[in-house]
Amino acid sequence: MRRRSLLLFLVASLLLPILVSCGGKKRPPPLPPSSQPSPKKTGRPVSKKPSGPPLKPRAEEGPRIRLLLRENFSSFTVRGSTLAPLLTARAKNGKIILRKSEDESGEILGTGTGFSLVSADPSKLLVLDGSPYRGTIEIFVNPLSAPVAVNEVDLEEYLRGTVPNELHPSRFQQIEALKAQTVAARTFAFYHLGLNVKRGFDVYADERSQVYSGAKVEHPLSDQAIAETSGVIVTYDGKPILSVYSSTCGGKTESYAGMFRRDLPYLKGGVECSDEISPFHSWEANCAGSKIESALNRRAAFGHLRKIETLKRGVSGRIIEMKLTGTKGEAVLRGNEIRYTFGIRSTLIEHLDTGKDRDGNITEIRVKGKGWGHGVGLCQFGAVHLATKGFDYERILRHYYHDIDLKGNH
Ligand SMILES: [Zn+2]
Repeated sequence: MRRRSLLLFLVASLLLPILVSCGGKKRPPPLPPSSQPSPKKTGRPVSKKPSGPPLKPRAEEGPRIRLLLRENFSSFTVRGSTLAPLLTARAKNGKIILRKSEDESGEILGTGTGFSLVSADPSKLLVLDGSPYRGTIEIFVNPLSAPVAVNEVDLEEYLRGTVPNELHPSRFQQIEALKAQTVAARTFAFYHLGLNVKRGFDVYADERSQVYSGAKVEHPLSDQAIAETSGVIVTYDGKPILSVYSSTCGGKTESYAGMFRRDLPYLKGGVECSDEISPFHSWEANCAGSKIESALNRRAAFGHLRKIETLKRGVSGRIIEMKLTGTKGEAVLRGNEIRYTFGIRSTLIEHLDTGKDRDGNITEIRVKGKGWGHGVGLCQFGAVHLATKGFDYERILRHYYHDIDLKGNH
């Protein structure tokens, strides 16, 4: 049975917000959708119940997922809830204050550590700061004392607000590529269910996980890809895989170990990939030595940049270990650290040369490189290319993830 990572508190009245419970139980290991029990449909949240489990609306079937929409916020607005047509949520001194209206002049609807908002009209969605969201919006102080806003929604509906951000269906109309992207995104979500309980959510709604924008980005073609792969996930050894993906690998994928220093058997990398259709397949960039020096001097005494050495390349040819020598110290950068420090799209660097000042300090680094992103797992532009060559989504997934199975109704 599913559980609630945080039981939420409903506004009972203007006077007495009621604490129902504040748990921290871990979710059971995620199951493939086909073996998930169907949650029972419950009534809408009601107020004035001093004890007992919170009543929440549930979908007819399928798992739900919790997305972090706001963390350590000062305020935001929500339209369309049962509490008020328009309310403002503010975080102050470890409490959440809900007011009727957009400013401090509105009457206080409740003050407490947690609220669950549902739509007043089932045919309409809740709107947070102008963006509509399916499901419920929970506003609470998490067990780490951070005020957060979390959208809890059916996992399939979460995909409707995610897939178009990751592979835009207007630009990429190859349905099998969209289906491969959908299954990768669904699997990524499954993998993370229950892994962030202490913070009260499963995944971020941004690049830290997958970019989720709620209902405003839904598109008929990505909806079709989601429906046609309903519930399908990628597994290895019977468990959902960490199905990472990136925009453009640049010709060959990297191993998970190369970029993230942990070996995953289904992400060995070294996969040949044709992604010349990507505008990021090849690129050139100029990096200022001073920016790299600033970043390194923030970590430890480094001084001026004098020397750049490649220590190790991964299976894709990416630089996965690099040594930088400064006038006051040296630094070894690994994996993604390199591209963030240099501010470049990827570390599949084919050519690098430097410009120096009269003192021998590196002032400019000219880079010719390939790809965009970490280059591990599915390559989005490569998937689009394979779809145009007639690969179906399963074949695309098997191209990028090693020794996998698909579970669900495929
Ligand atoms: Zn590629």
